[in-house]
Amino acid sequence: MDPDRARDMLTAELKALDERAEFAAESAAQVASGDLSANEGGMQQHPADYGTDIANRMESDGLVQTIEVQRRRVRDALDRLDQGSYGRCAVCGREIDDERLEARPEVATCREHADAQPVGG
Ligand SMILES: [Zn+2]
Repeated sequence: MDPDRARDMLTAELKALDERAEFAAESAAQVASGDLSANEGGMQQHPADYGTDIANRMESDGLVQTIEVQRRRVRDALDRLDQGSYGRCAVCGREIDDERLEARPEVATCREHADAQPVGG
C-alpha cells in the first residue's frame, strides 16, 4: 500500500464519517423528539460493513458511538502513517496485504489477527 494513497483513503473516510456522524446526531435528535417521519424516503446509504448497524438503526445513540469508534480507528491509522508503522500488523508485525488495506485502510491487524485488538490506543 502506497502511503500517499493510504492517506488519501483515510482522509476521505474521515470526511465521510464526519458527515455520517452529523446525520446520526440528527437522527438521534429526531428519535428523541419522536419525529420519525423525516427519515422516510431519506438517504440511507450504508457501506456493506455497516449492515449490522442497519439492524440497530433505531438505536441512534449506539450508531453515534459506532461512528466515533470508527473515527478513532481512522485517526489512529493516520498516526501510524506519520510514525511509519502503517500497514503492519499490530500483533505480529507482518505486512498487512494490500487487498485488506484497500477494503479497510484503517485496520491495524493482518487477516490472521483480525479479531485481536491493537495494544494501547
Ligand atoms: Zn498479525
